[in-house]
Amino acid sequence: MLIGIDDTDSPSGMCTTYLATILKNALEQEVGDSIELRLIRLNPTIQFKTRGNASICISIEHSYDVLDIVRKHIEQMAHLEDEGTHPGAVFFDKRTVPSDIKSFAYDAMHSELCISEATELIERHGLDFLSFKKGRGLIGALAAIGASVGEGSTFELIAYRFEEDFAKNRYINADSVSCADLSTYPYTWDTIDRKNKEVIFAPHSSDPVLYGIRGDDPFHILTAHSKIISEPVAHLTLYRTNQGTDAHVRDAQIRDLQEGCSYIVTATVISEPHTITGGHTFFEVKDNSGTLLCAAFEPTKQFRTIVRKLRLDDTVIVQGSYVDNCLHLEKLQIVDLSDQYKKANPICCNKSMKSLGREQGFRCDKCKTVKSARHTNKTSERRDVMIGAYEVTPSARRHLAEPLIRKRNQGYAVFPSR
Ligand SMILES: [Zn+2]
Repeated sequence: MLIGIDDTDSPSGMCTTYLATILKNALEQEVGDSIELRLIRLNPTIQFKTRGNASICISIEHSYDVLDIVRKHIEQMAHLEDEGTHPGAVFFDKRTVPSDIKSFAYDAMHSELCISEATELIERHGLDFLSFKKGRGLIGALAAIGASVGEGSTFELIAYRFEEDFAKNRYINADSVSCADLSTYPYTWDTIDRKNKEVIFAPHSSDPVLYGIRGDDPFHILTAHSKIISEPVAHLTLYRTNQGTDAHVRDAQIRDLQEGCSYIVTATVISEPHTITGGHTFFEVKDNSGTLLCAAFEPTKQFRTIVRKLRLDDTVIVQGSYVDNCLHLEKLQIVDLSDQYKKANPICCNKSMKSLGREQGFRCDKCKTVKSARHTNKTSERRDVMIGAYEVTPSARRHLAEPLIRKRNQGYAVFPSR
């Protein structure tokens, strides 16, 4: 049986994964089965979400009696008093997930769905469900059941705190995190941001998560975990997840972009990058269907240094979320660098000739030779950037965005940020 759960948390704390972990422990005690937990991230740009837009799928052998256990846990643990929290759970007890539920999950990662679309499918397949308040969580719960976490999926090991520590500052030894990262990168990632000297695998809020280690496989993740020195860990849960897989993006032409969705677009640079107060950098691109504004915001840090080196006619592949008619960049692949020239006055008698005004030509001060404007010297400008793929700094990365280190060996240069 698959149990999907979503929307139990609130901005003031809790975490749907914590509820899932406590629930997993209860189910294991009750029915004694081995249980797999999946952490499914959905469209990162939708309007209704608490922090990361995560939903949970619990995979369990037994199917009887679980509904009441799930109900009890949601009633006890979900932040039902928060006006934005509307939990939902869906129970799927058949052998294979039907294609319409799979495509529902695809849509939940790429666009915004309404509750009625979820309830319609739940009815069509006669699924058991639990709905609290407006039941918006039914969307994520059903999507979690339909999401595939097969080949290419990743893992996250989440360490949870003891309840009496929730309100205290986290204790995690930064050197031990660095050591964990050094000994398991590139099979684990986004543990530490070396360039900006920041531990990034732990939240700052007062929620139950102490830290989460992301990676390609359980072995390297557990190795990293074994090196971390921290306050005591109350629970440790390994999730299979669609994080770090680019499951939210799809290829598109500029004219087809829709607000609130994420895309990969191949295009040509048509305006030189400019940076505004606050450090946000913008440039425009075009393909044969339209033009598009792209942005690298201040939190993307050193990524902006690369963006600022773009010039007219460079060929790029841009990836990001399309919000307010602007692509918020997650990744940038430079496919081709255009030739750039510097203009200089021609030389005569070993000296630079004098300009006679715009497009008016040149005259030599010494021998009085006059040359027309077409004699302007063009010297090729060295492009101080390499062809290849670049990404935002790890602390600015969306959960779903695939780290470039996972895209190594694909026939183009990658410059992972870490
Ligand atoms: Zn001369």
